[in-house]
Amino acid sequence: MDQPGPQRKTRQIDIGGIPVGGDAPVVVQSMCATRTMDIDATVAQTHQLARAGAGIVRIALDNEKEVAALKEIRAQTKGIVISVDLQENYKIADKVAPHVDKIRYNPGHLHHIEKARTIPQKVRWLVDVARDHNLAIRIGVNCGSVAPAFLAKFPDDQLKAIVESAAYHCDLMDEYGFNRFIVSLKDSDPAKVVEANRRFAQRRPDVPIHLGVTEAGLPPDGIIKTRIAFEKLLAQHIGETIRVSLTLPNERKHEEVVVGHQILADVAAGRFISVPDYGQGLNIISCPSCSRVENERFVELAQQVKELTAYAAQHRITIAVMGCRVNGPGETDDADLGLWCGPTTVNLKKKDRKLGNFSYDDVLPRLRQELDRLIEERADLINQ
Ligand code: SF4
Repeated sequence: MDQPGPQRKTRQIDIGGIPVGGDAPVVVQSMCATRTMDIDATVAQTHQLARAGAGIVRIALDNEKEVAALKEIRAQTKGIVISVDLQENYKIADKVAPHVDKIRYNPGHLHHIEKARTIPQKVRWLVDVARDHNLAIRIGVNCGSVAPAFLAKFPDDQLKAIVESAAYHCDLMDEYGFNRFIVSLKDSDPAKVVEANRRFAQRRPDVPIHLGVTEAGLPPDGIIKTRIAFEKLLAQHIGETIRVSLTLPNERKHEEVVVGHQILADVAAGRFISVPDYGQGLNIISCPSCSRVENERFVELAQQVKELTAYAAQHRITIAVMGCRVNGPGETDDADLGLWCGPTTVNLKKKDRKLGNFSYDDVLPRLRQELDRLIEERADLINQ
């Protein structure tokens, strides 16, 4: 048997008073895309997401300066379960812990800070922080940032690398006697999300799983990609919490939650509406944006890229549009053409090669040129 059967039931954990796993209903969560330092905007968006039905709201924090803002955000969002994404700075965990219900760390982002400490030492410290502050933990593994040790160990099987990385961190949690944790294994490709989560669920049937397709992009394509993965997994009872990641302006951010509930209702009712041959042509991936976006034009740019490139719909080409300079450079490496946004300019790439950076207006005609060139190159290859 290569997948868990319909009886899969994980252990139940408590996240800020919400039961997750076991017999509990699947929880829909979402994430604020506002700047965390903008307290009013983040408080408003936290309420906006909760009103739409988000059981857990995630907020990203990069540095200690944002902790004071988080404290105030928490004071104004009492009753809402808050999770914090430690991004690449796990060391702020003890500062954020008093103000949240859950912390998320990425096993791929532990190696480059405090190199003198081992990964088990760092995880042990995170577990101690979580235990001291009555928090849950999410082990959030991402195909775009797999821990180098696991990539080196499984160079020909990226999915094995991410499943083994997640399983290793579960083993560490077990060793430290901590079981209030959940795991996510994300990618922008729905097929990889399905396979990674199936393999992990088989490996650790006891551990609750958070489902997500990263950088799914703009609606409706982002919704379709997410459905392709979620319908398959939820139908096999894999997934105890879910997030639909969509590129949306802030005033529409709650649509992520509405779509999440719709998918759950459809699966429960046996309505499966994935498009079977989706993914044969142009694929535009774009991040859902978060507090790291430095130019509000990102969402508009993603929309413009979609409109500009519509003529290439039949071509099997991936274009990635990312909102920030922290994850943008790495997350665009695998795309045929990639754009990542800085404060005033947009960087354009062809695979991992930089083509230059351009103003938000000038990047579009240059993208068109590069796309035309790519289509020509591929035609030449086919005709040879
Ligand atoms: S790419 Fe940057 S802006 Fe987009 S979700 Fe990831 S961290 Fe946030």
